[in-house]
Amino acid sequence: MDLRKTIQSRGLKLTKPRLAIISVLENQKKPLTAKEVFAAIGKAYNKVTVYRNINALEELALVSVDIFNGEKRYCVKEKQHHHITCTKCGKSNCLPCHHVFKTIKDFSQIDHQVVISGICVSCTN
Ligand SMILES: [Zn+2]
Ligand SMILES: [Zn+2]
Ligand SMILES: [Zn+2]
Repeated sequence: MDLRKTIQSRGLKLTKPRLAIISVLENQKKPLTAKEVFAAIGKAYNKVTVYRNINALEELALVSVDIFNGEKRYCVKEKQHHHITCTKCGKSNCLPCHHVFKTIKDFSQIDHQVVISGICVSCTN
């Protein structure tokens, strides 16, 4: 699924800050905090603009959000997947989802969230 096409097909504005945020999330291939997205974008846009547009993408459900230790992390919403986060430094990676759910009676559009944590290699040494 191309996020840009989804945005346009929903009649939403594909503004430059939104495009910048999407490219950062796509290139990093790991969940990022708003602060990390802002740092990666550089000085092209001010903090308020970046944060406001991240919130907009979140509200439109165009990015996936995980909350770990009270901090939100954003990721491009491609396939259903999960994140593992280091409990010491907060480093986070994407993990594929292998959960399969059969039809659940009386429910449709089944979704699930899993919190996975561990200690990363740099914090082990
Ligand atoms: Zn770590
Ligand atoms: Zn992810
Ligand atoms: Zn899963």
